[in-house]
Amino acid sequence: MGLISTVTDALAGSTETAPGVAGDDGSEGAYWCDDCAVRVRDVDLDDEGLDRDAEGVPVCPDCGESMRFERASGPGCAC
Ligand SMILES: [Zn+2]
Repeated sequence: MGLISTVTDALAGSTETAPGVAGDDGSEGAYWCDDCAVRVRDVDLDDEGLDRDAEGVPVCPDCGESMRFERASGPGCAC
């Protein structure tokens, strides 16, 4: 949890366009590149213009690796 919260803090205020409760704008989560600490919310993919791999998964604009989708925390756990 420490890593995630650190990254979130680092990104706060730089790329956030809709601070508030996750999901209030239709977002179900965000795509992460763990190596680059890049995060793009699913609803921002079009604006960011990210490329996608053969499976439709967005790829990191910095290193080109497929990004990891992380659902926004909400009621219940789908783990
Ligand atoms: Zn990357």
